[in-house]
Amino acid sequence: MKKKHVEVWDRCLAVIKDIVHDQSFKTWFEPIKPLKLEEDVLTIQVPSHFFYEWLEEHYITLLKKTIKKELGAEGRIEYSIIMDDYGSQQPYAMRALTGNRKDTQNPPVSMPLDLNRGTSKDIPNPFIIPGLKKIKIESQLVPTYSFDNFIEGECNRLARTAGFAVAENPGKTAFNPLFIYSSTGLGKTHLAHAIGLQAKNKNPEKTVLYVQTEQFVNQYTESVRNNNRNDFIHFYQMIDVLIVDDIQFLAGKESTQDTFFHIFNHLHQNSKQLILTSDKPPVELKGLEQRLLSRFKWGLSADLGVPNIETRIKILKKKIENEGIVDIKDDVVEYLAYSITTNVREMEGVLISLIAQSTLNKKAITIDLAREIIDKFVKNTSHDISIDYIQKIVCDYFGMSVDLIGRKTRKREIVQARQLAMFFSKKHTKLSLATIGLQCGNKDHATVLHACKTVTNLMETDKTFLKCVNEIDKRIHN
Ligand code: ADP
Ligand code: MG
Repeated sequence: MKKKHVEVWDRCLAVIKDIVHDQSFKTWFEPIKPLKLEEDVLTIQVPSHFFYEWLEEHYITLLKKTIKKELGAEGRIEYSIIMDDYGSQQPYAMRALTGNRKDTQNPPVSMPLDLNRGTSKDIPNPFIIPGLKKIKIESQLVPTYSFDNFIEGECNRLARTAGFAVAENPGKTAFNPLFIYSSTGLGKTHLAHAIGLQAKNKNPEKTVLYVQTEQFVNQYTESVRNNNRNDFIHFYQMIDVLIVDDIQFLAGKESTQDTFFHIFNHLHQNSKQLILTSDKPPVELKGLEQRLLSRFKWGLSADLGVPNIETRIKILKKKIENEGIVDIKDDVVEYLAYSITTNVREMEGVLISLIAQSTLNKKAITIDLAREIIDKFVKNTSHDISIDYIQKIVCDYFGMSVDLIGRKTRKREIVQARQLAMFFSKKHTKLSLATIGLQCGNKDHATVLHACKTVTNLMETDKTFLKCVNEIDKRIHN
């Protein structure tokens, strides 16, 4: 007789099979293994983190509906992910995010740390027993967030170099703490993991731990509730390389800050490495105690900037290579890199959807498909701006008549105005490259792409030109 969880999952599959495409079913549902059914929670095992994210992104509604149909309104799914953490196959338990994922910023490996894991029952506090072997602590690191996968660019040189130095010699450099900050989607979490992975690689005897600030706060609260705050503190004081991601979330949490302060001091005094990330530099952090902020400034603060076009293209190509995707043409890659300028996560999101759309719907990966997806995914705040309007602003700026834009000429000023008009049309409208080309002097899409590239390159090398562009941009928005 079949076990209950297998039965339930089989019935779910029967429903799903009728709904999704044959190939998708084979790819995304056949590899799933039901593990157990407890209360109303069905645990399913998926082969990788990517797989899990894919399900969450594309099939969560379907999964949710089916499971509720089988188990009733309280029915839920929990994933168990097989992850290759340095050779050992460690299943990671994870609650289904059930569609309304609050934080897409961090890899959702959010298994709560079991503070007592590995400790023998009669020795509840390993820290005060001299000579006791350290308990084994899982690092919570995501293997794909490695240095190899973290593309170097002008935007991250300092942080990356410092991070590498810290990983080679944790606690021994002047960069302690290493404080990495940037706005969202620019690689803080990735770099923090890379440092942790490298540190572990180079110093296998050291205990490395990555923790999100929210997790830390929750664990702290839990420890207070369970009356084992000291165990909590001791646990963290045993770490050699402690990575705390998004430290800004400590704001307003005074007793957690106080506890973190003690942990910080202990680690720092014992030459243990601290790596912190935040959305702002220490001076701008609000709601954090002064004594903490002053400590954050002890080491090195390094920011991550917005990657330039070259770096964005490299990031996309690396991602494509890692996904093992056959061929995405360079012009599509460039189109993505030119279209999404300020957030690497958003850029990757579009790439992943593009790959998904093309595999699931058997569509070729073209610039048009890319544009469709960008329209859907990336916020576009300026629908109403038209090409004509943009042309007018550009021409007014240079004091020339608008109809010169369409003129067949190689005159430098006219070519430049035309290129700028194309660039801004690309930036501010949802029109296709072909349409923009057509309306800007009857050119083809390749010319428009070339124009965008030229303008972006010039912006990066020529300050006066950059000023012009910003000036025009402002006028377009007024
Ligand atoms: P943050 O923590 O700053 O919000 P993340 O570290 O989560 O940003 O980065 C968002 C995505 O962008 C991740 O998938 C990450 O791998 C990718 N990414 C950011 N910067 C780079 C880079 N320099 N090279 C490769 N991938 C990058
Ligand atoms: Mg992050």
